[in-house]
Amino acid sequence: MTCTDFLAQLTDYFDGQISPELLEEVREHTSSCHHCEVVLDTTSKTISVYRDNEIYEVSPEFRDRLHLAIMAKCTAAK
Ligand SMILES: [Zn+2]
Repeated sequence: MTCTDFLAQLTDYFDGQISPELLEEVREHTSSCHHCEVVLDTTSKTISVYRDNEIYEVSPEFRDRLHLAIMAKCTAAK
């Protein structure tokens, strides 16, 4: 799994609609990719805050911003 693949699965992951196989790949990726691990951690915290306030929604804009941020970091790391 690449960072791009990871990001593509991110909303499904948080929607709980990810398959066990993909979930395993996500975990493998985040254990070897610090940037994506941080994104996963930050996003889950953000979402739990939103859920508590019952305004949880991962908008396409939010996902795009995440995508740009992580890709910039991953590119800079190489
Ligand atoms: Zn990554």
